Parts: sequence; structure tokens; C-alpha cells
Amino acid sequence: MTGTLWLVATPIGNLGDISPRAREALESASLVCCEDTRRTGRLLQHLGISAQALAVCNEHTEYRLIHRVVDELSAGHDVAVVSDSGTPGISDPGERLVQAAIETGATVSAIPGACAAISALITSGLPTARFVMEGFLPRRGQERTDRLVDIAAEHRTIVLYEAPHRIARTLSDLAEVCGGDRQVSVSRELTKIHEETIRSTLSNIGIGEPRGEYVIVIAGRLQNEQPVTEDSIRGALHEALASGLSRRDAAAEVSRRLGIPRRQAYDLVIQTAPTDEAETQ
Ligand code: SAM
Repeated sequence: MTGTLWLVATPIGNLGDISPRAREALESASLVCCEDTRRTGRLLQHLGISAQALAVCNEHTEYRLIHRVVDELSAGHDVAVVSDSGTPGISDPGERLVQAAIETGATVSAIPGACAAISALITSGLPTARFVMEGFLPRRGQERTDRLVDIAAEHRTIVLYEAPHRIARTLSDLAEVCGGDRQVSVSRELTKIHEETIRSTLSNIGIGEPRGEYVIVIAGRLQNEQPVTEDSIRGALHEALASGLSRRDAAAEVSRRLGIPRRQAYDLVIQTAPTDEAETQ
């Protein structure tokens, strides 16, 4: 008989959110995999329990930990996985251990609890029936641009995690690709004393001095919004050029309005207007 890999949710700020089942799993597992032994140690202390063994599981060590976890499970022992906060595997380590446990034939079971994405989604007031979790956006470059473009085209509600020092930039990038009218809800410090949720549009949202951790929830693109085709991009570029904008400004304006990459708009504007009348005047 193989053991069970328990995926144990821990609080995202309020220690009252730990469940009795989580406590039991952390106490009885032969091994608790955690991101930071000091942080999890403090949680265990708060619960008045101690773990039989702790192992560090982060993006660098998770792969190496697989053998040890598989050995424990194969010997019939239970293993618990926690992250620093919230639900393991959600923008946190855990996924590889789950895959390894499944391959071993072990039982994989969740002990649910706090998850910032779900709390922010259900308090946002935006549609919850269909949503996508985007986690953290890539920080820069083409990968970030591509992801932003995907988000702008997405019809389901979109959930994003963000750090305080990047929240303003991310909201402004989202306004650029999705358009300023899109509804957004920004939650910070969920379950903590200074919990706050601000609901507005992307152009009007004001978050003040960034403090704490944030979740951004954006309304999906409306179903009746026109799909962006090459013809519609050319049409929009034509209008922008006719209004007197330079090729560069026309490309920027159309990229913002239609939620397409600037490069794509710029390549098409060069074909549409081989010479730049605004610049040669
Ligand atoms: N696994 C976690 C979960 O289930 O929510 C998420 C871990 S991810 C590394 C950390 C990010 O989650 C933060 O940067 C923030 O975007 C979000 N987050 C975590 N706790 C939060 C809180 N109390 N309030 C708002 N956002 C939070």
C-alpha cells in the first residue's frame, strides 16, 4: 500500500483559516515539504504541533525532492506539501511532486483552504462561472506582450497575481491592451486587517500607495466585440493615418485600441503607407 500525498492549503494572512484536517495531516505526515522551513515552523508552532521531518521544496529543489517523496510514499508513509501561503501548486511549487506521486500509484488528495485567486474572484463582482487563472505575468519582453494580447482577447474573467512594486505598471499595460473601459477589481491584503477591494475600470482604477500583495481580476472581452482581423487592423490604421497621425503614432493608437502587439500594427502600417506623410510634411 502506497501512502498519500496531501496538498495542504495554509492561510494567506489570517491564521484562523487553517483547518483541523490541515493540522492533522501536517502532524501525521512522515515528511512535510515546504518552501521555507522557518515560516512553516512558525505555523506548526502556532498549531502547537511538530512535523516528523521538514524538507525544502521550491522551484530549485522540487525536482531533486522527487526521489525522497516517492520513497516515502512507496513505503506506505504519507507526505504533506505546503507552500508559504495559500494553496500549493497555484503559482507555487507542488505540481512536479503531484505528477511523480501519480506515476508511483500513490493517492493524491487536497486539503482545501485559502487561495488568494479564488477569494479575489468571488469578491470581484465579475462573472465567476467561467474564468482563467493567469498567475504572474512574465516580467518583460515578447513573452509579456504575447500574454497581454492573449488576455485582451480572452472572453472569460481573468485572474492575475501581482507584487506591490509592479502593480501600477501592470494595470497600465492592461489598460493599453484591453482598453480603459474594461471592468477590473483589485484586491489586496486578503484575510488581513487592511483587506481592501477596489472595483472600477482599467482607466479609472486608483490604487494609491502600493502596499501588500495584490490580485487583479479583469472582466473578459465582450462576446459581441468584433474579432480583430487583418482587414479590421488595416481599416483602423487607415482612419488613424487619415486623421493626421504619423505611422508610428497610428500603429501605437491601433495597437492600444484593438489589443494587438505594436509590432504587428507597425508592420502593417508600413505596408499600408509606404511613405509617412505626417513626417514628410
Ligand atoms: N499559492 C498562493 C495562493 O493559493 O493564493 C499564491 C502564491 S503566489 C507566490 C503569491 C501571490 O498571491 C502574491 O504575490 C499575491 O499576488 C497573491 N496573494 C497571496 N496572498 C495574498 C493576500 N493575502 N492578498 C492578496 N493577494 C495575495
